[in-house]
Amino acid sequence: MGSIPAGGTKMMQLPKEIIEILLKLQENGFEAFAVGGCVRDLLLNRTPEDWDVTTNAKPEEIQKIFSDHFYENHFGTVTVKTDSEDPTLKEIQVTPYRIEDKYSDKRHPTDIKFVANLEDDLGRRDFTINAMAMGLDGKIIDPFDGEGDLKKGFLKAVGKPEERFGEDALRLIRGTRLATALGFKIEEKTKEAIQKNAGWLEAISKERTRDEIIKTINSEWAHEGILLLEETGLLKYILPELREGIGVTQNLHHIYTVWEHNILALKYAVEKEYSFEIRLASLFHDIGKPRTKRGEGKYSTFYGHDVVGARMVAQIMARLKFPNDIAEKIIKLVRFHMFFYNVGEVTESSVRRLLVNVGKENIYDLIKVREADRIGSGRPKAVPYKLRHLKYVIEKVSSDPISVKMLKVNGQDVMKELNVAPGPKIGLILNSLLAEVLDDPARNTEEYLIERIRELDKKSPEELKSALQKIEQAQEEDEKERMKKYYL
Ligand code: ATP
Ligand code: MG
Repeated sequence: MGSIPAGGTKMMQLPKEIIEILLKLQENGFEAFAVGGCVRDLLLNRTPEDWDVTTNAKPEEIQKIFSDHFYENHFGTVTVKTDSEDPTLKEIQVTPYRIEDKYSDKRHPTDIKFVANLEDDLGRRDFTINAMAMGLDGKIIDPFDGEGDLKKGFLKAVGKPEERFGEDALRLIRGTRLATALGFKIEEKTKEAIQKNAGWLEAISKERTRDEIIKTINSEWAHEGILLLEETGLLKYILPELREGIGVTQNLHHIYTVWEHNILALKYAVEKEYSFEIRLASLFHDIGKPRTKRGEGKYSTFYGHDVVGARMVAQIMARLKFPNDIAEKIIKLVRFHMFFYNVGEVTESSVRRLLVNVGKENIYDLIKVREADRIGSGRPKAVPYKLRHLKYVIEKVSSDPISVKMLKVNGQDVMKELNVAPGPKIGLILNSLLAEVLDDPARNTEEYLIERIRELDKKSPEELKSALQKIEQAQEEDEKERMKKYYL
C-alpha cells in the first residue's frame, strides 16, 4: 500500500528547472506553482513522470517570458523547454489558471475560461490528490484535503463524482489506473459513480484508453488493476474477451478458473519485473480457452486455444490501436505459448521451427510467458532440467557451428589464388586454414589467409588431412562447453 512517508522522511525537493520557471514567473509579477500529479508524487516520495506548472499569467504573457517554448493553443498550455538531461524535465507544461466551461461529449470541454484564483483551477482537477499545488516556499495549497486522502490511501473525486465523470469520461479509467499505480483504494462514492457510469468510457478514444491500460499493466499492482477494472465494470468496455474466462473451470491439471489463472500469470510476470509485452502476453495467454472448451469437469479439453487466443489478441491489439511491432510480438507469444519442452520431444528440427515461428529475438520471452503460465497454474510441476535442456538446444541450433564458413576467405578465393579448377584439394586447404584459425582466432584475416594458401598448396594431401582432427576436437569441445553451461 502506498501512503505518505512516515514523519521524519525528508520530502523530495522541487528540481532546479521548476524552481527557475517559478522564479521567472514571480519576477515578472505573476503567481506560479507546481501543480497536480507532480505535487502528489513529491508528497509520496515518488519520482514524478512529468511536471506541470500553473500560473495566473495568460498564454501570451507566458510566451513572452520564456523564449524557448511552443504553443499549440491547447487549452492555453504553453510548453516551456529547458536544457535538462532528464527526459521528464525537458519540457514543462505551463498552464494559466483556468476552468472548463461546458462539456458536450464527455470528452472535451467546449470552452475554457481563464480565472484569477488558484483555488478555482484546483477545483477543475479530477481527484483530490491531484488537486494540490506547491509554491517555491514548499507550502502546499490543498483546498480539498488531498493530503488527508494521500495519508488514507484514498482516491476521491473532487466535488460530485458523477458530475465530474460526466464532464470527462477519461477520468473513469484515470481513476482505476491511478489507484493501481499508487496502491490506493477508490473512495466508496467515487467507486459507485464509476460503476454506475462505466459505459461512458465508450466516448473516449481507444488511444487514450490504451495509454491508461499500458500504465496499469506497467505498475507494481497490475493484476489488482485488472481486478479493479472488473469490479468497477470498466473491463467490459475495454477487454470483454478477458471476461469470458470468469467462472470457466478447467481440467484436472488446474485448480483455478481461466480468469483466475490469467490474472495469476500476470501477477507472476509483474513480480519478476518482466517487460510490458511479457506481462500482457501472460494475461492473455489462455484467453482462447473459453471458446475452445469441450466437455466438463476433470477431462475437459481446450484444443486450439492457442490459435483461437492469438486471433482474439490480434483483434484486441487492433481495436486498442497498439503499434504493429508490439501487437505482433504479443500475438506470437500467445500463439506459441504451448511449445513442447519435454526432453524426448525437443528435437533440433522442432526447435528450429519454433525459432522461425516465434522469432529468435522472442524465444526467451516466450519461455518467460510459459513460466508465468506454469507458476500461475497454482500447481507448478518441477521443470528446471527440461528448461535447461531446451535452452541448450536453442543455443545449439542458433549458434554458428564451427566450420570453414567462419573463415574470411572461401573456396572461390582459394581457386583464384592458386589458379586451379574445383577439386578435393580446395576443401583440404580450407580445413587447414580453419585449423590455424582455431589455434589463434586473430589469424582470421583475408591478408593472413591468402598468404597461407600458397604455403599450404606445397603440402601433400596426407599432411593437410591432419587438420580434420583438430577441427573435430574443437567441435566436441564447443559442444561440451554448451552442455556444461546448462548443467546437462
Ligand atoms: P501521471 O503520473 O501519469 O503523470 P498525472 O495525474 O500527473 O499522472 P497528467 O496527465 O500528468 O496526470 O496530468 C497532470 C494533472 O492534470 C493531474 O494530476 C490533474 O490535476 C490534471 N488532470 C489531468 N487529466 C485530467 C482530467 N482528465 N480531468 C481533470 N484533471 C486532469
Ligand atoms: Mg503527471
